Amino acid sequence: MSRPMLEIVALEKSFGDLKVLRDINLRVATGEMVFVIGPSGSGKSTMLRCCNRLEEPTSGAILIDGKDIVGCSSSALNRMRLEVGMVFQGFHLYPHMNVVANVMLAQIKALKRPKDEARERALAMLDRVGLRHRAETMPTQLSGGQQQRVAIARALALDPKVMLFDEPTSALDPELVGSVLAVMKDLKDSGMTMLVVSHEMGFAREAADRVVFMDGGLVVEEGPPEQIFANPKAERTQAFLSRVR
Ligand code: ADP
Ligand code: MG
Repeated sequence: MSRPMLEIVALEKSFGDLKVLRDINLRVATGEMVFVIGPSGSGKSTMLRCCNRLEEPTSGAILIDGKDIVGCSSSALNRMRLEVGMVFQGFHLYPHMNVVANVMLAQIKALKRPKDEARERALAMLDRVGLRHRAETMPTQLSGGQQQRVAIARALALDPKVMLFDEPTSALDPELVGSVLAVMKDLKDSGMTMLVVSHEMGFAREAADRVVFMDGGLVVEEGPPEQIFANPKAERTQAFLSRVR
């Protein structure tokens, strides 16, 4: 494998007595798109949230481009968080700000970018997700698929090294899913490193470099999509796939 951009080492996370992540080890190479699948409650979201310390890991290390985000100082943490872009199921855009202002905000607040530079970058990222012509629109005027593409543009505007997606299309009407997946495919083709939790098995088959199956806070099995989908080794993977297909 080429140099990992994201490396999760012996990650454990408990909420009180509940052990949610038991021993997660996962490497995502630079430019790789890794899909994470698994039953509800298996710890997928918690794992992603640990990667920018939205959730505090109980133990283990998470290396972003070789630097540990778990053991670092709080000033380093603020810097490193910006390197990890995150897209959630809900889009969390500010409803009282237009689209371009939404994409500018964190650039100004967190990166301290001058306003005109932030605006230029925002417009470039909106162009990338096919929404430059909606820059002055209010988010509520957009479809869910368009709002999610704005959320992706917002994350990209901070120049992340890794993008994490947590069920980015689960809240969308079926006819809007394709436009978001197309943006994700473009992003992969441009060389972005991506860790994606999603039930879009067709997309995983077509676009993922690797698929990881999680259950009970563990990585049960991983491999290329054709192997995981056509020929899963573990019984738990087989059972899960037969339920979702
Ligand atoms: P998935 O994304 O695979 O559905 P999650 O990571 O959301 O799984 O959740 C894994 C487990 O951790 C579930 O049992 C969930 O109830 C529990 N959990 C998640 N967040 C918290 C929290 N903040 N406090 C307590 N339990 C939590
Ligand atoms: Mg989840």
